[in-house]
Formats: sequence, C-alpha cells, structure tokens
Amino acid sequence: MNPDYSLDTLAVRAGIERSQFQEHAEALYLTSSFVFHSAAEAAARFSGQEPGNIYSRFTNPTVTMFEQRLAALEGAEACLATASGMAAILAACMGLLKAGDHIVASRSIFGATIILFNNLLARFGVSTTYVELADVDAWMAAVQPNTRMFYLETPANPTMELVDIAALAQRTRAAGIPLVVDNCFCTPVLQRPLALGADLVIHSATKFIDGQGRVLGGAVLGPAALVRDKVLPVLRSAGPTLSAFNAWVLLKGLETLKLRVEAQCASALALAQWLQQHPAVSRVLHPGLPSHPQFELAARQQRGSSAVIAFNVHGGRAQAWQVVDACRLLSITANLGDTKTTITHPASTTHGRITPEERAAAGIDESMLRVAVGLEGLDDLKADLARGLDGLVSQRSA
Ligand SMILES: *Cc1c(COP(=O)(O)O)cnc(C)c1O
Repeated sequence: MNPDYSLDTLAVRAGIERSQFQEHAEALYLTSSFVFHSAAEAAARFSGQEPGNIYSRFTNPTVTMFEQRLAALEGAEACLATASGMAAILAACMGLLKAGDHIVASRSIFGATIILFNNLLARFGVSTTYVELADVDAWMAAVQPNTRMFYLETPANPTMELVDIAALAQRTRAAGIPLVVDNCFCTPVLQRPLALGADLVIHSATKFIDGQGRVLGGAVLGPAALVRDKVLPVLRSAGPTLSAFNAWVLLKGLETLKLRVEAQCASALALAQWLQQHPAVSRVLHPGLPSHPQFELAARQQRGSSAVIAFNVHGGRAQAWQVVDACRLLSITANLGDTKTTITHPASTTHGRITPEERAAAGIDESMLRVAVGLEGLDDLKADLARGLDGLVSQRSA
C-alpha cells in the first residue's frame, strides 16, 4: 500500500490480503495450523527457506493483516501483535534484555507495568530505576553501564504528564540505548513516536484500537532489526500470540479509530473545562487545558489532546468514592478507550497494588479520579458527574 496515503485511507485499506474468493471485507482465518502440499514444502517452510504460514503461534493471515495495518498507521517497518498490552511489554523486554541488564523507566507508567518490572523481571535479574517523566536530564543521569532500555508512556496514565519525545530521543540515540514508548493513550491518530525518534512502540490494543471493550490485544512496532530479529523469537517460542479472532476485531477497530479518538478527545476537553469550574474539584489534569503545565508541548507533539481526564476532588478517598458511587451512566471500570465512558479511582484500582510511596512518586493520591470519555452525549456525562460533585459541595457547606 502506498505509504503516502493519508491515515484515514491506510486505516481502512492497509494490510488487506485477499484469498482466492476475492472477499471484500478482511477474512477471519480461524485455524491453528496450515497444510503443506508435500513433505519437502513442509521442510522448506519450517527451515525458513520458503515463506508462508506454518502454525498460528508464529503467523496467521488475519493477525498479519492487523499487523500490517497498524504498522502503516504508526509508520513502522515491522509490527508484531500480541495477546494483550502486557504481553507486548513482556515480549519486548524478553527480546531486548537479559539477566544483569537495567531499565530506566518513567515513574508514571501503567500499574501492571511497574509490577512486571519490579516483581517479575527483577526475579530474572533485570533491575529498574524510575525517573521523573518530563526531566530529560534525569533520564540520562540514571543510566548505568548495564542500561539496555528506556521505557515511558506519554501522556502518562493517569497524571497526563508528558515528555518531549524528540528531545529525549536525541539523547537516548546518542547513548545507543533503545527508547520504548507505550503509545496506548495517544494511538497513531494523535502521536507517532517512531517519527519523533523512539525505537519501539508498544500498544495495548485493548484500549482505543478495539475501542468497544470487547477483546484484549497488544503490539510491538519498530524497525525489523528489533521487532523481527529480537521480539519475534519470543512470540514463536514463548507463545503470547494474538488470536486470529481478536486480530479480526482489532483490524475492524482500526477502521474507525480516528473518528472515535477525535470525537472522544473533543468531548473530553469540553468535560475537562466544565470540571475545572466545579467548586468540588480542586484540580483537573488534561493536556488540552491551558492550565496544564505542558500545554504547549502537547499542542506541538500531539495532533489532539486526550480522551482521558484526571481530576482531584477536595477531600480524600471517601469524597472521591462518593463521586464514583453516584454515577448511574458512567461505568465503574478500569478500562479506557471505550465508546462507553468509564470512571475509576486509580489509587485503589489500577495503581492499588503498588506501594503508597510508588503511588506518590507516580503523582497519584486518594482524591484523584480518572474519567476515560466515550461517545455518549456530553450533557448526559456532565449530569452524571454533577450528581456526586454537587453532593460534595452541599456536604461541605452544611
Ligand atoms: C491497559 C494498558 C496496558 C496493558 O494492556 P492490556 O491489554 O490490559 O494487557 C499497558 N499500558 C497502558 C498505558 C495501558 O493503559
């Protein structure tokens, strides 16, 4: 497919591989293995002399279509789909690291990623140092002789903090250490980290790429030298592969990704502006608000702001939970990127398993709530949040 096509065109057209039946929509190949014409052909495929599918733990045509399409959107040479976002992070770490290696990671990353680094990779001899996301000098100061990976999310979940990817990548490139960016929050619609100098992109396709809360999936993207040579062997032999069915769902999700993300960002910005003037709210974190400390960086680095809002209420856990429990429309669930708006209390859910110190370092406290805006009517969302927030105001004045 012509890589000069716009993102809109690539999202619906890239990666299609038609069968002999000339189907228009992408086919779903539910098969675990593929048949050979002869023993010689089987041997040639297994040895790698002849290209082609062998077994769906390695490759599957529906999964390949999803990988090709996502690669086109991210501007990546290669893409590997995985069973979940965490499987993508694990596969990237297993592909790039060995015992004795060291990661420099942002303090503000997904809770399960912190657990993966601190509790699981640590058992295999990989250590991690956490740094302030926006502080490029701190990243470089944390480098040790055994550092083999930089790892971040921007904007961070749930604090909405950013880093200047191009500025950081210039330094990490000079150090010769791969920079891995989890692009789950932005998707290629808002930000393409590889074009800014990152070496690998991670996706939790579970979020915006599915966008309808149905399946888990993930991906690792970047140059073939990293993705095919280092990460593919992990997939083939450790097996965190994406299922063909999930790939098919995600492939169709990509077709509407841009429309959804743009609509959800616009709605989130309007909701953030409304929250900002509510007396029960002490702070709103959204990169589209001029009050965001990195508003200008967000405008320069991203093609839109964010569908996710973090905000604090006056008080602590009790007050935050009261807002959650007053919701009748917003779903109390930790998923995000869905067409259905979700609300969560990060300190007791997504970031509940890390220590209070790690939480404080990640900028999360008990009064914080995260709303991931979907496609419902804005006034309905405001009315749902107003029920709990107005309740807090009347309690305070009583
Ligand atoms: C959800 C999420 C993940 C993990 O993805 P799963 O598909 O749930 O395994 C990783 N990074 C970020 C930023 C996420 O929001």
